[in-house]
Amino acid sequence: MSILTEKIKAEGRVYPGNILKVDSFLNHQVDVSFMSALGREIAEKFSDVEITKVLTVETSGLVIAYPVAEALGCKMVFAKKHQTKNLAGDVYTADVASFTHGTVYEIRLAKQYLNENDKVLIVDDFLANGQAVRGLRQIIEQAGATLAGVAIAIEKGFQPGGQQLREEGIRLESMAIVDEMDGETGTIVFRAE
Ligand code: 5GP
Repeated sequence: MSILTEKIKAEGRVYPGNILKVDSFLNHQVDVSFMSALGREIAEKFSDVEITKVLTVETSGLVIAYPVAEALGCKMVFAKKHQTKNLAGDVYTADVASFTHGTVYEIRLAKQYLNENDKVLIVDDFLANGQAVRGLRQIIEQAGATLAGVAIAIEKGFQPGGQQLREEGIRLESMAIVDEMDGETGTIVFRAE
């Protein structure tokens, strides 16, 4: 059993609306040494490809993207969800439909931090319908950079994002795949590893 599956079994909670809460180690409080270990496992899976940059979207993506970039020995860059005065000038943008909030938001990345020489690993905490990854891929395309792969902590296998990426031939590594969740009983069924 992967370290993440074990952790979710011990600490994950199922909420209404098909939401898995992992606030005790990833989405609110951060178990730093655990996330570092998970980051090293993800980096190991991509040790056969060249990666120059890890790309994620704020906020929770940072918790996993940071240790992955550290283990790979490359820089990490994150798309911002909010318009700020600090992010003036030339930016790449994409629209993302939020699974958890039911809204559409714009993500932005300063052009100076991603270019056509970059080989990019997208990293995020969850993969559900695949909207966040889609927005990040649009930013990679605008930069003329190359997508090296997608690394996800928790894929919700009963939502279509993961299958769509695999069908497109994109290299996707999910550290735990949840195939079923029951909000009433709290049961979580994991895909066999
Ligand atoms: P997607 O864009 O693939 O539809 O959804 C992924 C994004 O929605 C992730 O970045 C994550 O923040 C959020 N998300 C989706 N499902 C869950 C969930 O079950 N639990 C939590 N905590 N976040 C989720």
